[in-house]
Amino acid sequence: MPTRPDDFSRRSFLRSTATISAGALVARYAPTGLIHVEATAAMRQAAAQKDPLAARRAQMGSIPIQKTALGSGLAMLSGPGGNVVVLHGSEGKIVVDSFVQPAWPALKATLDELPGGAIKTLIDTHWHFDHTDNNGSFRQAGATIVAHENTKKRMTESHDLLGMHFDPSPASALPTETFPDRQLLRANGEELAMFYVPPAHTDGDIVVQYRNANVLHMGDVFFNGFYPFIDASTGGNINGMANGAERALKLANARTKIVPGHGPLGDRAALDRYRTMLATIRDTVQKLKGSGQTLQQVQAAKPTAQFDEAWGKGMMSPNDFVALVYNTL
Ligand SMILES: [Zn+2]
Repeated sequence: MPTRPDDFSRRSFLRSTATISAGALVARYAPTGLIHVEATAAMRQAAAQKDPLAARRAQMGSIPIQKTALGSGLAMLSGPGGNVVVLHGSEGKIVVDSFVQPAWPALKATLDELPGGAIKTLIDTHWHFDHTDNNGSFRQAGATIVAHENTKKRMTESHDLLGMHFDPSPASALPTETFPDRQLLRANGEELAMFYVPPAHTDGDIVVQYRNANVLHMGDVFFNGFYPFIDASTGGNINGMANGAERALKLANARTKIVPGHGPLGDRAALDRYRTMLATIRDTVQKLKGSGQTLQQVQAAKPTAQFDEAWGKGMMSPNDFVALVYNTL
């Protein structure tokens, strides 16, 4: 952990996050009720090889896909990675996010079972592997891939994150169309508006608004029900997270269905609780850090206490989250 307020750097951030074991993280990432997944042969093999990325892919990939109808030719798929939303109809399937590689056969079968035409477009909400891991499979299936320009840039770099190493993605898995600010896509009687969110969870986040169906896909700018991970190594920071949640609230009304990157389907009230949690903890930590307190002192002051019962039982423990907030302020 960084020991002084000025000790934060990418290296120290990675040291601090590396203390969260990849295995514990996988278990805590999984939706409630699905965390006791049988170890597969691939998982045991990966663990034996001490490859945390392969182990995490295998564990996440073995989680079954759950389907939730969102109405108007829209379905949300959950399980082996970040939440996926599919718009299906005669003009083809538009998919947001793609699960991890081992889930591809199950994802392809689920997509094929949905009514409508072939897979046409994949949209990446950000570069993280649990959202983009099947880019190559989608391109092989004939899809174009749309993302923010920073997502493509991040995918061409190597990264070390949460104990996992990522090589640059092959050219055959990169987005084929990028945009800097916003993009509109029309298909199957629906309008998909993609908005760039200035650096929040990463520096390439987008939210996708389905205007006719009144659905929002927030990517990992929204973790519904637990403290979010913030990837400071690729530009994420707590102010961006709070501002992103604030901006998304303006796109929503009481009937909007809001899909988080991780966690159950939410609504405007859930997103508002999340924004309040982020802003309150940010303000408290800011005040303590501004008065010269070290990270350890701030953690000892338990600035998240009033939120821990509701938000502290997921991927990030209260202390992990305080470190992310402190280090990105
Ligand atoms: Zn992410």
